[in-house]
Parts: sequence; C-alpha cells; structure tokens
Amino acid sequence: MHGLMMGSPLLISSLLTHAERHHGATEIVSRRTEGDIHRYTYRDLARRSRQVANSLLAAGVKPGDRIATLAWNGYRHLELYYGVSGIGAVLHTLNPRLFPEQIAWIANHAEDRFLFFDTTFAPVVEALQPHAKTLERWIALADIARLPSPTAIAGLESYEAFIGGASDVLEWPLFDEGTASSLCYTSGTTGDPKGVLYSHRSTVLHSYAAALPDALNLSARDAVLPVVPMFHVNAWGLPYAAPMVGAKLVLPGPGLDGKSLYELFESERVTVSAGVPTVWLGLLNYVTAGDLKFSTMRRTVIGGSACPPAMLRTFEENYGVQVLHAWGMTEMSPLGTVGVLKNKHAGLSREEQYAVQYKQGRAIYGVDMKIVDDMGRELPQDGVAFGNLLVRGPWVIRSYFKGAGGDPLEDGWFPTGDVATIDADGFMQITDRSKDVIKSGGEWIGSIDLENIAMAHPGVAMAAVIAVRHPKWDERPLLVVVRKPGVELTREEMLRHYEGKIAKWWTPDDVAFVDTIPLGATGKMLKAKLREQFKDYRLPTA
Ligand code: AMP
Repeated sequence: MHGLMMGSPLLISSLLTHAERHHGATEIVSRRTEGDIHRYTYRDLARRSRQVANSLLAAGVKPGDRIATLAWNGYRHLELYYGVSGIGAVLHTLNPRLFPEQIAWIANHAEDRFLFFDTTFAPVVEALQPHAKTLERWIALADIARLPSPTAIAGLESYEAFIGGASDVLEWPLFDEGTASSLCYTSGTTGDPKGVLYSHRSTVLHSYAAALPDALNLSARDAVLPVVPMFHVNAWGLPYAAPMVGAKLVLPGPGLDGKSLYELFESERVTVSAGVPTVWLGLLNYVTAGDLKFSTMRRTVIGGSACPPAMLRTFEENYGVQVLHAWGMTEMSPLGTVGVLKNKHAGLSREEQYAVQYKQGRAIYGVDMKIVDDMGRELPQDGVAFGNLLVRGPWVIRSYFKGAGGDPLEDGWFPTGDVATIDADGFMQITDRSKDVIKSGGEWIGSIDLENIAMAHPGVAMAAVIAVRHPKWDERPLLVVVRKPGVELTREEMLRHYEGKIAKWWTPDDVAFVDTIPLGATGKMLKAKLREQFKDYRLPTA
C-alpha cells in the first residue's frame, strides 16, 4: 500500500523558491573581484537566477548539459548554482588552483559547453582556451565596462550582458529528483581526476542534514560566511543550506587573508563560518597579532584535514568560538561526521571534553559508517581498533562520472581511503589516509597524531609526518617542520616535545626543517610530494 502524501520531487530550485517566499528580505553580501561590497537579498537572487535560466535556455542549453564555472564565492556564482541546476543542466565547478592544462583536461572530460569565470582568472582562461575542445562560450562575471582588457580570450562575453536582456519570469521545471545537478572533480594523487556527479535529491537531503543542530546548526538567526570555496564540493553545501533555513550569506570573494576575513566577520556580524585549517591559521595569526576579538562569531566548522588540537583550543579559549570539527569527502557531498558533544559529556572536565572534540565526530543521520580490517571483517567500535573506514548513504557516491575507475563500491559500501577508530559513543577518529599510514615493523603508525603534537609546539607553523624507508623496520616516521618566523628550534627540542605524549616507538626518527610544505588545490598538505622530496633521505637510525 502506498502512502497518500504528495510526491513533490526534492529539487534545488525549491530551496530558492522557499527563500524568496519566506526569507525574501534576508541579505546576501559579497566582496566582489571589483573590490567593493555588493548587497542584495534572496528576492534578488531568485529574480536574477531566473534570468540566468532564461538566458541559458535561449542559448540552447539542454537538460544534462555541463556548464562550467571558475569563480570565487560571490553572488553571481550563486546565481549560476541555481540558474544552471534549476533547468536540469549540470553546474560544473572547476578548481582554479589547478594548472590550466589540468583544468582543460577536466573540462574536456566533462564536455563542458559554457564557461563562466571571474575576471581574476582571465590569465588562467587564456592559458586553458587553446586546450579546450568542447567549450563554446566564454563569459566573464562582469559588466561590459569591466571585461578584462587587453585579453587573448577569443569570443569573450560579459555575464551582465548575457543575462541582461532576459526575462525574470520562469516557472522552474519539475523533473525527477535523481537528475544530475552539479559536478566536482576530485584529483586523486594517482591517476586522472574523477568526477563526482551530485543529484538534486542528494543535494537537498544533504542540506537538511547539514542544518541539523548537531551538524552545522544553521538557522534564520545566523549570518554564514563560507570560506570554503564554492569551487570545491559546493562549499560544503552551505549555498544550499543557507537559503533552506533563511540564513544571511556573506561571500568573501578573493579576499581569504586574515585581515580581509576578519573585517568581513565584524562588519557583517557573521555568526558561523567554515573552512580548512590552513585558512584559520592565517586568520588566527592576524587576530592574535592585533589583539582583536570576534564580536559576533560563535561557531566555525573546521574540516578537509584534521583540525590541530592547538587550533581548537585557541578558538574556544581565547576567542569563545566553538569549533565544529567535521569530516567528509568530495564523494560524500561532503558531510560525514561532526564533533559535537553529547549530553553524557556535560559533566566531564574541559580536558576530557577536548579529548572527545579532537576526534572527527559522529555520523549525521543519512551517513552509515563502519571500520573493517584488510579482509573486510567489521572491527569493534571501542575507540581502539582501527581499520578502513567505509560509508554508505543517499549523498554518498555510487559511481564516478562516466564510470571512471570502474565500480568504486565494496559490497555496497564506499571505501573512503581513510583509516579510523570509532568509539562506543559513535565518535570517529581518523588516524590516517591509508596511503599515508607509516608501516613500522608491520605495525601501523598514524601520522595525524604525530602532526597534531608537533603543531601544539609554539614554535611550529606547520608540520607533516611522512614514512621514510628504513632497512630494519621497513618504514619509520620523519617529522617535517616549518618554523614560525624568527623562531630557533632544534631537532632535539622537537623530539623531546613528544616525550610522554605517545608510545616511544611512535616518536619520529628525525626532524627535517623546511621553508614550506607543498599544499594542494584544496589546501591539504601534499604528502606524496613530500615523500618524493625525501625519498632518498637517510635516517640517523638507518
Ligand atoms: P576531499 O575529497 O578533497 O574533500 O578530501 C577528502 C579527504 O580529506 C578525506 O578522505 C580525509 O582524508 C581528509 N579529511 C577531510 N576532513 C578531515 C578531518 N576533519 N580530519 C582528517 N582528515 C580529513
């Protein structure tokens, strides 16, 4: 017997319709590439998104066509989020931090038809244009007066001119909620990048989950500033979740340095933000140096790589900002877990609570999760046993775009490539990426713990721990450190810093001081590059 409720499909356009009707006057504030601050409302966003949709339809865009963007977080990018997906076309967010040849490869693989880009990326577009095989139109997110000039981009058009003449009247079409809505490539360290193709259904369900109190806790009382870029996993779903709950959106454009962010946090009374640890390093340095405080910021989501415990403490103790340590992946839309305490933790000491918060958190409903050994046998949730982390759920990938890499699933579960423990309360802790784990004498050493301890040293700006060949133990950990400017720091002092904090045999065998650690296009440390750099390194213990 079927239920007798309406079968309204879960479509992205319904988020916008809701925001227009019920939060029409709520603001969206953007720092533009033009340098000024732009303000308008959800009502304006809805109107201009319909203009985008009508312009695309008039230009011959059909359902399923891929429309690419190379853009910062800003209102025009947001209009494309809704205008493109709303008509059943696929919004393909390209990552401008990749090399132009890589971007061209991805655009060709996706068979993108149009490219919308911020004028700051004109040089990237010039470099990729000769390699692009399927792109037909090149549209800069600017009015005609501000088009990049001189430029080598052939056929350059203005976004404002493109949508300017279009009607803002449109009934958003209804279609199957399983229809593809957006596409984001993930660049694995080996092999070609692979596309993750989200659906309307997965996106809307993910937004519901992201907004929950024990997830990102979003509401119409919030002003949300996603530092996490809209070109990487849809800015963790915030451009969809904010209109769902009627939160004010503050979009920082290209200004991701500590000063620019801090000014926007204060002037727009931002209450919640989200980003990777490297971004927060810059912000914390800025506020610490200027002895500043946050007057409205209450929470920040930190994920993408492990939040160093020292950062979590600084935010909470010095600035009264709650850290929501979150874990996820491009393949998971991306939210998987968030580290919010339970009622039973209320009576614990602050130190004991921190120990729980350092973990990556609990699964939000919709994400099913387990750890298994190398034979695929499920391991106990005792907070000690660690194994390969598997996930499944309605916003977890089933197959990569065009079947790249074959069937990724194991018995219906997606292997994340992360190694983790899960405790009796459901808190998951990543100990490593499976490819980064250090295998010493047949035993695993997790590099994240070792990095967190190093990061807690006041003289350390950044730290990575990698495996280096060892004749007896096969692999041993090497600590690679970037010192804070002007700080003297010796190998002996760094190694002493580990005493009493970990099992002795986990202590790195040596310390290498470097000027920089290579970061990837999404702000993560490129450990494969570091391993390559240190592949002939001779440990003193070897
Ligand atoms: P991406 O698909 O580029 O977002 O990368 C996903 C990967 O980032 C995960 O599989 C983890 O290895 C890593 N990651 C994400 N969040 C965290 C976190 N909070 N702690 C540790 N690693 C994380």
